[in-house]
Amino acid sequence: MMYRPYTRPSRRIPVLVIAIVILLAAVIAGFARNYKRWESQSPEVMFDRDFKALGRTPALKMTVHDPGTGLKHVTIRLKQKDQDVVLADEELNRDGSKTYDLGQLIADKYKIQDGPASINISASDHSLRNMFRGNQTELTKEFSFYVNPPRLEVLEGQHYINQGGSECVVYRVSENTETSGVFVGDHFFPGYPVKGSDKNLRFALFALEYDWPPDAPMKVIARDGAGNEVSAGFWHKVFPKKFRSRDIPLEDSFVQKVVPEIISHTPEFKDQGDPVKTFVQINSNLRKKNHETITKLAAQSPGQFLWNGAFLQLSNSKVESLFADRRTYVYQGKPIDQQDHVGFDLSVVQHYPIEAANDGKVIVADYFGIYGNAVLIDHGAGLISLYGHMSEIGVKPGQMVKKKDVLGKSGATGLAAGDHLHFGLFLHGVPVNATEWWDEKWIKDHVRDRFPR
Ligand SMILES: [Zn+2]
Repeated sequence: MMYRPYTRPSRRIPVLVIAIVILLAAVIAGFARNYKRWESQSPEVMFDRDFKALGRTPALKMTVHDPGTGLKHVTIRLKQKDQDVVLADEELNRDGSKTYDLGQLIADKYKIQDGPASINISASDHSLRNMFRGNQTELTKEFSFYVNPPRLEVLEGQHYINQGGSECVVYRVSENTETSGVFVGDHFFPGYPVKGSDKNLRFALFALEYDWPPDAPMKVIARDGAGNEVSAGFWHKVFPKKFRSRDIPLEDSFVQKVVPEIISHTPEFKDQGDPVKTFVQINSNLRKKNHETITKLAAQSPGQFLWNGAFLQLSNSKVESLFADRRTYVYQGKPIDQQDHVGFDLSVVQHYPIEAANDGKVIVADYFGIYGNAVLIDHGAGLISLYGHMSEIGVKPGQMVKKKDVLGKSGATGLAAGDHLHFGLFLHGVPVNATEWWDEKWIKDHVRDRFPR
């Protein structure tokens, strides 16, 4: 009998299986090893600021970033009219990121002309995707070059400025102006378009604060979207003023009346344990904070006058304290604090109706720190009036009011010893002397007549 050896398939199959398993493992291992090289995240391009326009020597940096396989190639081109210039074109060695000083590259390699231009950036990384060419990023940014600074011409006029007072300047700018206004020292007062006339005409109300030096430099500036700036002086003369100094004796009864009330309305303000210490904190820090809030509110002010004619001093009122009185607070014979009184204290009788000094929009009608129950009215172009220490408030924020409208009743809330109105005027947050604004003639000479008719 023939004996055919029986070959058992079971001996071959395991070999095949093992071979397949080994092959699969190799593929998986290979893929795992190269997995990261197949990442799909494209390089990112970031400018250090947003821009619509650039000047002659722009400050501008750009970073190309690739967190995956790293950068392979970056090209930066600048196009304008007939010019097409390569600012950078380089191979990179898997850098995670690279920053380019675009301002410097433009200054070095480009001949700037006025008008529209574009920057084009293309970047790739070391990923194996896209037939091993890597992930690609392509970005084009359109903008304009402004070669020439704006033009600026201040309208003729003599500006007599009282220390602690206000003033107005009218000037003409060229169309490319984005920001303009007056600098008094380093304090900026923004300008606004003059309604209904030459669209390049601007006005700015500004102030010389009572404690700023009388020789503080003053100039008008105009700036374009590229940051090119031009400035112009204007004829002005400052009248230095002396302000009064007074001692305010602090009684325990007064401290015990005002401190708990203010603390209870001002949760963010911490009781210092000792009422006199808390009083000093309120008198200095809360006062400062309240004035900072007024500065912030002024930034939202509409760019036109909401008021009409002279501002009103509260009817029948007697002036109890003057603007910019320097007050030394004396406790048990010792001076413990000094603050300046940036407004007028006006008294009539208890719970006297408080009248709006002029037309405007109520922007605060609430408990307001040292001023107790207070109303703030925005009169436009950065001018805000404050009515403090009221017993009752009868208006709401957002409400438009007319001159002499009743805002509430006088009282003694906040830092007040007796019933009176504290009236303050602030120009872009700078306290100004209200006597000027109460005077029709001053308004005509210093504000109204500056505008061409
Ligand atoms: Zn006061």
